[in-house]
Amino acid sequence: MRSLTNKKKIMAKDFEIPQLPTYIEIPHINEGVMEGDGPFKAVEEFQTPLGFPGEKVDNWQEVAIAKMGELKSKYRSIQVFLDSCVKCGACTDKCHYFLGSSDPKNMPVARQDLFRSVYRRHFTFAGKYFPKLVGAKELDEGMLDDWYNYFHQCSQCRRCAVFCPYGIDTAEISMAAREVLDAVGVGQKYCNQILGKAITIGNNLGLPEPALRDTLLDLEEEIEEETGVAVKYPLDVKGAEILLITPSADFFAEPHIDGLIGYGKVFHQDGVSWTMSSYASEGANFGMFIGSYDVMRKAALRIRKAALDLEVSRVMVGECGHAWRVAYSFWNTLSGVGSGGSDEYSLKLQDQLDSRYPQPQHIIEYTHDLISRGKLEFDKSENDDRTVTFHDSCNVARATNMGGIPNGQFILPREVIKAVCNNYVDMERGTIMESTFCCGGGGGLLTDDLMEIRIKGALPRMQALKEVEKTSGVDTLAAICAICKSQFSKVLPKFDFDPYMIVSVHQLVSEAIILDKPQTIDSEPEEVAEEINN
Ligand code: SF4
Ligand code: SF4
Repeated sequence: MRSLTNKKKIMAKDFEIPQLPTYIEIPHINEGVMEGDGPFKAVEEFQTPLGFPGEKVDNWQEVAIAKMGELKSKYRSIQVFLDSCVKCGACTDKCHYFLGSSDPKNMPVARQDLFRSVYRRHFTFAGKYFPKLVGAKELDEGMLDDWYNYFHQCSQCRRCAVFCPYGIDTAEISMAAREVLDAVGVGQKYCNQILGKAITIGNNLGLPEPALRDTLLDLEEEIEEETGVAVKYPLDVKGAEILLITPSADFFAEPHIDGLIGYGKVFHQDGVSWTMSSYASEGANFGMFIGSYDVMRKAALRIRKAALDLEVSRVMVGECGHAWRVAYSFWNTLSGVGSGGSDEYSLKLQDQLDSRYPQPQHIIEYTHDLISRGKLEFDKSENDDRTVTFHDSCNVARATNMGGIPNGQFILPREVIKAVCNNYVDMERGTIMESTFCCGGGGGLLTDDLMEIRIKGALPRMQALKEVEKTSGVDTLAAICAICKSQFSKVLPKFDFDPYMIVSVHQLVSEAIILDKPQTIDSEPEEVAEEINN
């Protein structure tokens, strides 16, 4: 057993950063150590645009129970998950937030029980008549506070579900709880404020078209100056073949923008026509985090409209973990990208999209395919100053696939990295692929008011990283998720790592790719002469 004490303190808030252990051990339980008010709550201006009450409604208990009933009938999985837990305990030590915080309510089964106990009280015979016997509880103020607090200490990573013999998915229960909270007017500021911008302006940052266009033009200039090649970052090009939907962090923040630079270079080398859309310039869809199908759909429909208006034949997704989950798992029924959707616009889009390609397709699948067909050339030595490891992002790892092959979501990113880097090492097997540990900032937790749980939740990933740093000299952590990249930039230094060691996979591609140089005025006569001589 290890102690979670440490000398280091964070300036802004007085909490202790856990020391990295030699290996992950189950911590002593510290009841209530993460109790609190939860993240900042959304005020009216962030609630009402999403269709939620502006503040906590007077009859909130009645509304909450009615909402639970609605969700129980709408999503059969919720009722199955709530009814089937046998308290075997297999999930208890699988959550990074429990391992990092030691608060027993961060054990997945205990987190579920916050919801399950109320479900039992109101929706089961035994819970109605013999509540104490079956652990049924009322939804009172204390329980509501616990819901708000502890369901915002779940990144919906689904690691616990991998180890549950019944496949109970705490992420879905967490989404349902957040949906109930929004229905009674107790929403989370971070997610709901962002969603308001995404569904009205088209991206999480509220970046208007002129700002986006300027950013992309600046990027083109910088790349041409650096490489001598006119790599383009097109916006709103009607008739382009590919519409790229990428997280808006790619437009400005490090290390994300280096990934965007890489996508552009790959498109350039392939010679394909592509575009981004100022109307739908966001891949992230926080509607999934708050459990709201309606809000998730509003964001997804902007993408459908952009695809129809721009008359593209392919839709591609950039490096964003939950965006890929929403695209891969839900876009078909949300928007008609893929095989689902039967409304007029879905059918029109399906007719328009080229069925010879996966719809949607991940940028990793695209680059991997070009590499496999020998269409890209690399100088791997450009990355020889790095020893790289790969962090499997939760939503990609446990909720999607790539390449249409079993475990493709683990294989393809690694093969892309190995095609552009000579030095690659995996972290310990129990911490990657389907067992990957969350970065600690997913599921709508990437806000500074949740910094304590973000740092504590990062502990298992940091421990595995420290191990390969020690044993193999790993100095670069690659990821294909915008949230992971932002989270790691913040938490790496808390555990004595270089914050710049986190990179986009397409940054590694960008550094190694050999671009066709256009003929310059100086080189032209020589090349022409050479051709004549040949
Ligand atoms: S989904 Fe992830 S964060 Fe949530 S309880 Fe399970 S392991 Fe923890
Ligand atoms: S592993 Fe599954 S069945 Fe066992 S306690 Fe956890 S949720 Fe319940």
